[in-house]
Amino acid sequence: MFGIVGIPVMEIAVAAQEVGIKYVGMRNEQAACYAASAVGYLTGRPGACLVVSGPGLIHALGGMANANMNCWPLIVIGGSSESSQETMGAFQEFPQVEACRLYSKFSARPSSIEAIPSIIEKAVRSSIYGRPGACYVDIPADFVNLQVKVNSVKYIECCMPPPVSMAETSAVCMAASVIRNAKQPLLIIGKGAAYAHAEEGIRKLVEQCKLPFLPTPMGKGVIPDNHPNCVGAARSRALQFADVIVLFGARLNWILHFGLPPRYQPDVKFIQVDICAEELGNNVRPAVTLLGDINAVTKQLLEQFDKTPWQFPPESKWWKALREKMKSNEAVSKKLASKKSLPMNYYTVFYHVQEQLPRDCFVVSEGANTMDIGRTVLQNYLPRHRLDAGTFGTMGVGLGFAIAAAIVAKDRNPGQRVICVAGDSAFGFSGMEVETICRYNLPIVLLVVNNNGIYQGFDINTWKEMLKFGDATAVAPAHSLLPNSHYEQVMTAFGGKGYFVQTPEELQKSLRQGLADTTKPSLINIMIEPQATRKPQDFHWLTRSNL
Ligand code: ADP
Ligand code: MG
Repeated sequence: MFGIVGIPVMEIAVAAQEVGIKYVGMRNEQAACYAASAVGYLTGRPGACLVVSGPGLIHALGGMANANMNCWPLIVIGGSSESSQETMGAFQEFPQVEACRLYSKFSARPSSIEAIPSIIEKAVRSSIYGRPGACYVDIPADFVNLQVKVNSVKYIECCMPPPVSMAETSAVCMAASVIRNAKQPLLIIGKGAAYAHAEEGIRKLVEQCKLPFLPTPMGKGVIPDNHPNCVGAARSRALQFADVIVLFGARLNWILHFGLPPRYQPDVKFIQVDICAEELGNNVRPAVTLLGDINAVTKQLLEQFDKTPWQFPPESKWWKALREKMKSNEAVSKKLASKKSLPMNYYTVFYHVQEQLPRDCFVVSEGANTMDIGRTVLQNYLPRHRLDAGTFGTMGVGLGFAIAAAIVAKDRNPGQRVICVAGDSAFGFSGMEVETICRYNLPIVLLVVNNNGIYQGFDINTWKEMLKFGDATAVAPAHSLLPNSHYEQVMTAFGGKGYFVQTPEELQKSLRQGLADTTKPSLINIMIEPQATRKPQDFHWLTRSNL
């Protein structure tokens, strides 16, 4: 349970700890909600976010929206004003149940204390059954300390794990036949596949049928990025010329350019695998729809290819075209990374970070260029080990996600590291969570890739020149942030380690020290060229995620 206590939920946090629930006190409800939702994605069981009435709940809405957009389970518990004072202008009164409806699958207030167990059961069940999402439970202040007889409350056992559904057999046969007849096939692996723990089956399908695959940003790691069949480095090419695309838990939204030309062939055949029937057919008319749990459906597909073995010819023109494109794209990135000029560019920074990242670490990533470029260089080898701005493109998620990953790691695999790579702007949204990190002594390594601005910024001299022409409110471009800010001092203020780095050597050294120290968090503030951008793109529309 993550949250911020106050009237009227203080006693709920105390009681939660008494029954053995871990409680992590955060500094902003938004970050608390991001953290709770990341626990849901990482473990398949919803984390809880506990907030106070009115403004507390309203701050949490950002986290709820983000969770719901990402299809991640989450339970938000909000205290609310005294029910007897409703509509009278009570302290922090707000129509909370109604407010949460847009941001959740389920939003309710128990009618009595006796009804709390069944409402909680329903919220937990709704959050993980079907398409996962956020659920809200409202607890009026007068419920918190009211006493009832124990035997008047009917305790309800927690729900069974989500039922597993399989696709129609005829659709599975049809899908297998469409795949067999493909000339330029492609599998797209989304974060739905990661959430479903479908890594084993999908990997088997890829290897048995020798199919190229492309992970979406958080689909990275379901099969390791360095797998020979991963065509991530030829993303645009793979999407543009594929004639059959199988979507495993990935929506045809902006991240996948809606499945439409010019980013795809007009007659590309989509095979959609999803647990949510309403998703099937969004934006395109699919050739085949496989409604069911990805894990189960992948097994159904594998049965087809076991019955009549088939593989896509590894020496096909399609494989050759993809391999060539990957080679040339990788060469461009390597060239940019090897640039010796200072300040560093993004590629140089990520190249040095990648060299030292432990294979099993969690990578949290946010920021505009920082995230987009970072995704192409930083490798994931394990499923559910990358957390980023996601479907909603939310900046400010990084610290909450990193805290969640560190708490999960502490439980499962102590010693496993969490690296959070954020732009300077993204870091600012939740910067005070550094205190939370230090308070719980979570050995997170925070990298702030600092270009003094949003998208781009200015060097200190240009900034000073600019201010000669007037007050900053009049002359400073809206995307600028204070040049050379020492974000690392936020970390040292709370007892963690801080580094201010300007050269590759300083970056290597500080990262080595940060990773070696498993007892303390650190923040490495990496100064880069304020005008640095991405390598030239083939497409200039929808540039987000089109690397
Ligand atoms: P990405 O951002 O990686 O493209 P999306 O969030 O767009 O991924 O898509 C994830 C999809 O996975 C959602 O449409 C969701 O309904 C689906 N999904 C989640 N869990 C399962 C599951 N167990 N089986 C099948 N589909 C699932
Ligand atoms: Mg920036």
